[in-house]
Order: sequence, then C-alpha cells, then structure tokens
Amino acid sequence: MLTIEPIRAFSDNYIWLLTDTANNHCFVVDPGDAEPVLEVLAERQLTLAGILVTHHHFDHVGGLPLLREHTSAVVYGPHNPAIEGVDHRLAEGDTLTVLGLEFSVLAVPGHTMDHIAYYCAGDSEQPPLLFCGDTLFAGGCGRMFEGTAPVLHGSLAKLAALPGSTRVYCAHEYTQANLRFARAVEPDNEALAERAREVAALRATDDPTVPSELAQERATNPFLRCAEPAVAATLHSQGKWQGEKPEEVFAALRTWKDSF
Ligand SMILES: [Zn+2]
Repeated sequence: MLTIEPIRAFSDNYIWLLTDTANNHCFVVDPGDAEPVLEVLAERQLTLAGILVTHHHFDHVGGLPLLREHTSAVVYGPHNPAIEGVDHRLAEGDTLTVLGLEFSVLAVPGHTMDHIAYYCAGDSEQPPLLFCGDTLFAGGCGRMFEGTAPVLHGSLAKLAALPGSTRVYCAHEYTQANLRFARAVEPDNEALAERAREVAALRATDDPTVPSELAQERATNPFLRCAEPAVAATLHSQGKWQGEKPEEVFAALRTWKDSF
C-alpha cells in the first residue's frame, strides 16, 4: 500500500513523502531541506529509493547534496544544469516508475521556465496523483518569476484538464491566504465560501489543507476560472481590467494578487 504524507520544512513548505508500506521504500518530492527528511527516514527505518524535483528554487532542491551523501536515492528532475545531482533529466511526455506506480511528466513553465509536474493516472484502487510544486496551489497559483502570463496560464490549463478526482499535492501551505483573495474575486461563489470555512477549521488546528481535489480547484480557484463571467465582472467593477479573454483575465488576476 502507498501512503502519502507531508514532511514540514521551513515555514510553509511541504516535502511529500511517498511510502510503500510493504517494503518501507520511499520517495520524497522537492526536498528543500535534508534534515527533516533524514529524521523521518531514521525514525521509521525507511529506505529513500528516489527523489522527484519539480524546479530549481532553493526551497525545493536545497536538501539534495546531503540526501545524496546519506542515501542512494535516484534523483529525477528537469533539464536544468543549475540543479546539481540529478540522475535522470525529464521533459514533457517522459515516464518513470515510483514505488510501482507509473508517472508521466508534464512541462508546466511559468513560475520558473524549468518547472515540471509529475502525474499518475491511477487505477481502480489508486486515485490520480499530481505533484505540481509551485505551479498550481490549493486555491491559487505560483508567482511568475520567469514566465509570462500566457505561459503560466497555458500550464494551469493543462493541469486543469486532468481528471476531477486527481489529488493535487502542491509544495506550500498557502491555501488560507489564497482563498482570501479568491473570495475577493468571487464573493458569491458558494463552493468557495464553504471551502474557506473548511480550510479555516483545518488551519485552526495546524492541519494541512493539501492535497485538494482538482474538481474542487476548478470550482473555487480563481486562476482556473478565468473564463467565468463572474471573475471578469469583478475585474471590471474593481477597475482592474476591461477585457474578457481568459488569458488576459489571468494576467490581470495574477497582477492583482501580487499586491493583494
Ligand atoms: Zn518556486
């Protein structure tokens, strides 16, 4: 059986730990810090078989040197030579096996240009899984450090087209702040109001709000709802943007969120 749980790092990062409970082999995703990972490996007597990296930011790769020194994990990551210690460089369409599950690689540039995501289509027992780093967040999306709005919008559209039952594992606990912005964009969205209540309850007890389900993101995440008339209407009434095209709505939303 596969279990997936967060290892907390820094102030709000999640390093996702995937464990095959039959043999205690595990993978981690985006180990920005090695220490909390090494602690879990020692405590639970787990063997780190592999590491998945989504993009080059330090809070996602900072733990690689120490983990390579202390384990024999195989490291998968994007075609970016700035990330040292990657054994297998991956691009759109590549596949890999993680603890017996087949994952495919999606190129999702925009937050950074090297950003990739890992998707497992699942089966009758395993729901689809998505590890999307800093591209799609619960209730929001990453900042555009390297890409342009049309590039990030295209990447999010690619993720939004995955099955609604996909479990979305992003790399930060940003949900509550993201939903505050979402409610400013869509004050009348009932599903969003309900989600905000659920998230507030989870955060009150310091519980993770990740993973979410993709269907819920499509219903409540403004960055996946740029074609909704209500989203454009708010931008118009707030004087943020007068156009209607989804990719222009996306750019206006991203700009607004940057200073929200
Ligand atoms: Zn990042």
